[in-house]
Amino acid sequence: KEYLSTAVRDMPPSGIRQFFNAAEASKDVISLGVGEPDFQSPKCAREACIRLLEHGSTMYTPNEGLYELREEIAGYLANGFGLHYEPAGEVLVTVGGSEAIDLALRALINPGDEIIVPVPAYVAYEPLARMAGGSIVHVETDEEHSFKLTAEALKKAITPRSKMLIVNFPSNPTGAVMTYEDWLPVAKLVIEHDLIVLSDEMYAELTYGQKHASPASVPGMRDRTVVISGFSKAFSMTGWRVGYACGNRELIGSMMKVHQYTALCAPTLGQVAAIACLRHGLEDMQYMKEEFGRRRRMFVRGLEQIGLPCREPQGAFYAFPSVAGTGLASQTFAERLLREAKVAAVPGHVFGPGGEGFIRCSYAASAAKLTEALERIDRWLRANP
Ligand code: PLP
Repeated sequence: KEYLSTAVRDMPPSGIRQFFNAAEASKDVISLGVGEPDFQSPKCAREACIRLLEHGSTMYTPNEGLYELREEIAGYLANGFGLHYEPAGEVLVTVGGSEAIDLALRALINPGDEIIVPVPAYVAYEPLARMAGGSIVHVETDEEHSFKLTAEALKKAITPRSKMLIVNFPSNPTGAVMTYEDWLPVAKLVIEHDLIVLSDEMYAELTYGQKHASPASVPGMRDRTVVISGFSKAFSMTGWRVGYACGNRELIGSMMKVHQYTALCAPTLGQVAAIACLRHGLEDMQYMKEEFGRRRRMFVRGLEQIGLPCREPQGAFYAFPSVAGTGLASQTFAERLLREAKVAAVPGHVFGPGGEGFIRCSYAASAAKLTEALERIDRWLRANP
């Protein structure tokens, strides 16, 4: 008899955490490893939380989240992205975007269903998809197509067992953004093959040129798409653990069934803080976004200057420079960079096929840290031709 679940035993540890832990352990390391803004959460969110604590109103909320928050989310998505959901029944507040991803997979996947994931991709999809009983089919995206998902590439991955397509634009780790026009041929295929789309839009607000377009906004796509997002990134609220999922009633209802047993509800403090963000924190978000935009330009230019070619990311807060020119595998590059230059970055291979030859650097770190990191990498590269 196996002591541990074999599915969990065989689950690899997160390649991001490995570098994060190493960076935490040593104070003189500059961490560009983990995707976390260095800003404080908006003042309005912190104040709302303090008020709540003072009143002692710290009980469970309804399973699906505070109605006021669901109403704010629905209004926010309608104004910002042209997405329309009913607060009652089509919006579910979750424990970060992470729980929403897990719930969507558990609510939709049957054993043997194939889940198509464009790679390089965020590290959580694959292990969670496997736990839900699905099998993963990769679609490689590449620099030549700005790491966007093309209909041609998707078509090759579709089989009669294809059930779901997971997309994440703006992308972690590549920073790729899909326009509305980019979605049209992809959506056509999705509809033709009766797929469901899990659209992870955690970075929807963080685009630096063209505006974010959700696949759910394409005609015929709304009811076959689960939109997932949250407050962690754009509102700098990582530790509050509030995210959400939106979709048709049946889908959200099924996710809610699982959520009521596993989480009961998202943290009450976080939910109240999230309401404050949407009511009073939009300027804070805009400020942070503009600051990320400035850091992005500075950091990408700096990488180019020190000999690490880097396509300009269009969204999120990651640079994905190529290290292929150094002749080192991305894992070796990242390990040596950490040990010898004291800079933590994530090797591209942890994001799946297509990630080898790159490293992911978060530019959500402060400008001073980014400058120091560039100097350290430069010195290290010069000393190690
Ligand atoms: N989705 C993507 C693409 C992410 O990058 C992250 C966090 O890194 C998450 C989801 C999880 O976000 P949350 O903190 O809301 O659980």
